[in-house]
Amino acid sequence: MAKITLKVVSTQRKSANLGRKEKETKMLLGTRKALTFENSCAIKHLAVENPMAEQKIVCYTLDLEHDYAGLAPAEEYETFSHRVSLDRLLEIIRRHDLKITVFATGKVLSERRDMVEFFQKNGAEIELHGYQHVMYRPDCALEVRTGVEAYHKYFSRKPAGYRSPGGVVSPVLMEALAKEGIRYDSSLIPSFRWRVYQNLKSPIKPYRDPASSLLELPIGVVPKVRFPIAASYIRLVGLASYKLLFALFGAPAPLVYLFHLVDLIPTGMRKELPFFWRKVYAKGQKKGFDIFEATVVYFKKLGYRSEFMSSLYKRYTSSPEKRPGTRNP
Ligand SMILES: [Zn+2]
Repeated sequence: MAKITLKVVSTQRKSANLGRKEKETKMLLGTRKALTFENSCAIKHLAVENPMAEQKIVCYTLDLEHDYAGLAPAEEYETFSHRVSLDRLLEIIRRHDLKITVFATGKVLSERRDMVEFFQKNGAEIELHGYQHVMYRPDCALEVRTGVEAYHKYFSRKPAGYRSPGGVVSPVLMEALAKEGIRYDSSLIPSFRWRVYQNLKSPIKPYRDPASSLLELPIGVVPKVRFPIAASYIRLVGLASYKLLFALFGAPAPLVYLFHLVDLIPTGMRKELPFFWRKVYAKGQKKGFDIFEATVVYFKKLGYRSEFMSSLYKRYTSSPEKRPGTRNP
């Protein structure tokens, strides 16, 4: 049995707020769709204390979905056809020996098997990112179930890990994941984004959801200021800003780093986006690969070692002698 200490860390919501589960708000993304607003998953969080796990591990996680995740007027997989750019990504992966965990939507698993095979044959591990990447109730049980079905059809097994579209986490989601036998979730961004998520009181380190017992491996944020550590944000504000934030507030360990293909590969579809998002995605778009590689080099310099999410999961759930990076006595 793993020597893992569980303790109650915080009480996130008062009971008066619990009746607001169904509260929804119009999505800010310029679409006609809506998104669940009640987005903090747990009343209490159970911290997982495991010093061996809290080493400088970085997990590079790629969300593989249709470009712009519902922001564009039509679903497109334009980045998938940029083979030269995809080869450039592979070069970076090989040059720095990166362990990539791909969270693919069920739709990609069903309709673009070529892309899943591309990453699979180049050493990535594949987990699940919902089915349709709907932004209306992306945490619903149907999105989980249809996604798991598509994954099972492809791999003849269920996924171990899950990332919810839009990073939306709720008790409904956690219950659905547990029911499907998913072992860990990595959706929570312990930060704040207007009308999308408000997780400023959630732990920034891995924890167990008390209701489902599922292990949550949150997406990385800068400690204290909780600024998300993701390619899209680094592209927007520049790597130099992150270097400053890390110097001031420290670096998280472990670090789950999030990126998308649109962070690296410019597309024609960007011109079809609503004005705000067109501007957001324009920033640093042509330097996506340079910024990505500079980030990788920076993390290496800080002493981070790249591991798959499955290895990170094992660090938090295995007995000490079986944890990655430890030797049997
Ligand atoms: Zn996504």
